[in-house]
Amino acid sequence: MRFVSTRGASPALRFSAALGAGLAPDGGLYVPERLPRFDAADIAAIPDANLADTLAALLRPLLGDDALATRLPALCAEAASFEIPLVGLNGRGDHLLELFHGPTAAFKDLAARFLAASLAAIRAPDAAVQTVLVATSGDTGAAVGAAFHGRPGFRVLILYPEGKVSAAQAHSLGAFGDNVRALRVAGSFDDCQRLAKHALGNANLREEVPLLTANSISLGRLLPQMGYYAMHALRFQRRHGRALNFIIPSGNLGNSLAALIARAMGLPIGEVVLATNANPTLAEFFEGAPYRGRNAIPTLANAMDVGAPSNFERLLWLAGGDESTARALIRVQRIDDARIRATVAAAERRHGIAHCPHTACGLAVLEDLRAAGDTRDWAVAATAHASKFLDVVGPLLSAPPEVPAAFAALLAKPSQAERIEVDDDALAAALRA
Ligand SMILES: *Cc1c(COP(=O)(O)O)cnc(C)c1O
Repeated sequence: MRFVSTRGASPALRFSAALGAGLAPDGGLYVPERLPRFDAADIAAIPDANLADTLAALLRPLLGDDALATRLPALCAEAASFEIPLVGLNGRGDHLLELFHGPTAAFKDLAARFLAASLAAIRAPDAAVQTVLVATSGDTGAAVGAAFHGRPGFRVLILYPEGKVSAAQAHSLGAFGDNVRALRVAGSFDDCQRLAKHALGNANLREEVPLLTANSISLGRLLPQMGYYAMHALRFQRRHGRALNFIIPSGNLGNSLAALIARAMGLPIGEVVLATNANPTLAEFFEGAPYRGRNAIPTLANAMDVGAPSNFERLLWLAGGDESTARALIRVQRIDDARIRATVAAAERRHGIAHCPHTACGLAVLEDLRAAGDTRDWAVAATAHASKFLDVVGPLLSAPPEVPAAFAALLAKPSQAERIEVDDDALAAALRA
């Protein structure tokens, strides 16, 4: 299998080569040149007993004869080293897909770990140290930092917008130490992304400092996310004889696109509804307006503060380039900050569970479906643990949520971040240091 650009004007690459790439040279995104399709017999042969095995079965046809293919089981085992349970909320078809049991308590852990393990596997033993440069609005940087922490041959430089991530996120980003450094940028997340993009586009700098990206458009971050949707959809189908439907809190469309790709490959995934925060780009498009990217507006669900979803081109690709087909693949519902607050408070009263603001968007969508008489089985993707967003949810809850052990260990370490201005030269100097 080869991977080609959504814009069709870049050379086709093997999986290993496309894995850590950001944009293709023509500005598009890498996609498989054709999507493998599992027929009924293939589906019956996909294991569902554990996530690593399900994921390996899904990725195998995508890797084809790539150099990583023989190591796929080990890579998937390394990525899926923590539980991702489907938890029933009420015995009436409401479920939570708990994606937050990894080392940094957000769904990004699984795919970041797959990417890190894969890049380590293809690294030549005598290669120079590679620097993974990552801009983050909070969760990506921690997941990437944890995934590469202590890996020989790699160091990580995290750029985050000072004052615009939660206190727990900020602490975690600076707490890894060793080969992971955090820079707090005196600007916005967009500034961080621009800085990273500029450095990655600077050929002279890259000659001195070998750079890799680990942003959410990298295939190594996108495709492994198929695993948890596939495993639970298969289990559900096999046990109950019907499809499980998903509500996925979405920003850049990475996590949700993985569910759509798995469905397009033949997995028994039912309807997919995207829950967004107040940023209107996706909802407007799905209501029929032409696509219009714009600046993000800040909300309580800040990891989804996206005005121009970076994976939108891949959604169009999945729809064969046709906008109305794309609109038919999913539904989108917007949830504003007042509703996020109300949902966090009500869910604690009803189920005794504290939810993060992103997960709350998904729960609010489920509430609306139920109110409209929908009786199907739904799983809301719980994208992060509530304790990561204590600043937002703390005042809404009767007691602060317990911090998961792995993330608590990170918070217990000292934390340090160097401050830089929004300045390409300042970042270049930090990269050379
Ligand atoms: C990154 C993130 C999202 C958005 O995921 P996308 O793949 O960008 O759509 C949602 N919730 C949390 C907690 C996140 O960290």
